[in-house]
Amino acid sequence: MNKVLYTLSAMLGLLIIILLVNTVLFTSKQVSVSPLELIEVDKQAVASRLSNAVQLKTVSNQNSNEFDATAILQLHQHLANSFPQVHATLEKTVINQFSLLYKWNGINTEQKPVILMAHLDVVPIEPETAPQWEHPPFSGLISDGFVWGRGTLDNKSNLTAQLEAIENLIKSGFRPERTIFLAYGHDEETGGEQGARAIADHLKKQGVQASFTLDEGMMIVDKKLSPIKKNTGIIGIAEKGYLTLKVLAREQGGHSSMPPEKLTLLTLAHAIESLVSNQLPASLSGSSGALFDYLGPEMPFLQKMLFANRWLFEPVILMVLERQKTTNAMLRTTTAPTMIQGGVKENVLPSQAHVLVNFRILPGETPQSVLAHAKKVIDDPAVEVQIHQSSSTPPSRVSRSDSEAFHLIAKSLRQVFPGTVITPGLLLAATDSKHYETVADDNYRFSPFTLGPDDIPRIHGNNERIGLEDYAKMIQFYVQLIRNTADL
Ligand SMILES: [Zn+2]
Repeated sequence: MNKVLYTLSAMLGLLIIILLVNTVLFTSKQVSVSPLELIEVDKQAVASRLSNAVQLKTVSNQNSNEFDATAILQLHQHLANSFPQVHATLEKTVINQFSLLYKWNGINTEQKPVILMAHLDVVPIEPETAPQWEHPPFSGLISDGFVWGRGTLDNKSNLTAQLEAIENLIKSGFRPERTIFLAYGHDEETGGEQGARAIADHLKKQGVQASFTLDEGMMIVDKKLSPIKKNTGIIGIAEKGYLTLKVLAREQGGHSSMPPEKLTLLTLAHAIESLVSNQLPASLSGSSGALFDYLGPEMPFLQKMLFANRWLFEPVILMVLERQKTTNAMLRTTTAPTMIQGGVKENVLPSQAHVLVNFRILPGETPQSVLAHAKKVIDDPAVEVQIHQSSSTPPSRVSRSDSEAFHLIAKSLRQVFPGTVITPGLLLAATDSKHYETVADDNYRFSPFTLGPDDIPRIHGNNERIGLEDYAKMIQFYVQLIRNTADL
């Protein structure tokens, strides 16, 4: 008996040692930067150029016939007027009439270029929400330290901040070491087929293979929202795919006075239940694993120990993270029944009924693998499962979080936002980046502004705005990033 006890306590001791060693070796991955002087920004002047861009209603509606060509062309003109040095120095190519590609030739043409991205279009305003805006959505009003209006976060601030940065650098006599492309699509909000995809095809034809693209996507999350209670800059290294399945049930119809045992709506209900209760598995590897590699070391000791020993604690961690909808969505392909249809009259049993189920696909899975999973878990000959219309996009590839380019973005960020913890992460929405996988080694998704607790609903929502201080920092970030590309 003593021997058993002795063996058990020795094993326990060994386990504790392993856990502690792993925790001690789980060290910070944050780049250290020395303080440096950032460029001076004339906050009022830059805000008024952003404001003018916001006032142009470059709206992408679901119906592409409602596209306002005049507004996009006015935006081109506004950029030309506002950034004369950029337009005198960079080569500008208009793609598909409305998208813009600029090329700033680097000194060293041997080195791979860098592509900075943004988009010219914005989402519409729901007419019934217009009265809820504190200032009219296309006023571009500068008030209370903010520029207000649709596009101030998504995505005209990225657009004009990049151009402000380059205008500033040219004026100071700077020449980039490597070539910088600026790629501005005009239809990101409807998928980017006419804009980003065409720009990427154009670059490919020119034989361009960039080091990386940097597009909108994630941002700095305010400490109040961050799990580590420090401002956290999340650099998106991947984005989820999209799929809608149509699940159709068929049983015998007829008069509702004599219902049979097998009812169409019940069969459909069982199918929904099967899908929701047998979701695709959650995982701590891939892009979510990368997030915890970076955030784990910044956590208090006990949490740090959990993440340093995922080989043991993964089931516990998953159980906790799956309970919250935001973290759950980072870990798995999500399943969301969204629309249902069936029946024509209250006293008629429907012979068929269907539900649409929307999935956001985790990198590593595909629309086909999700379809196969759905068929398997429903497993009912009375139910047909198919991809709805053409609504499927595979997830993006996962870009590297150990590349020089990732390091460079992280360094630029910490130079402009000292103390911010940087981590790679998975973007739950879609961007134009997916079109650039073949023209760049890596695709990163990050907008250099800080999102506070009440800011998330502003994106694509009401009262979108950006602080003048925040906007100045965006410009400083792009300046720093371009300067740093010499060290890639
Ligand atoms: Zn956007």
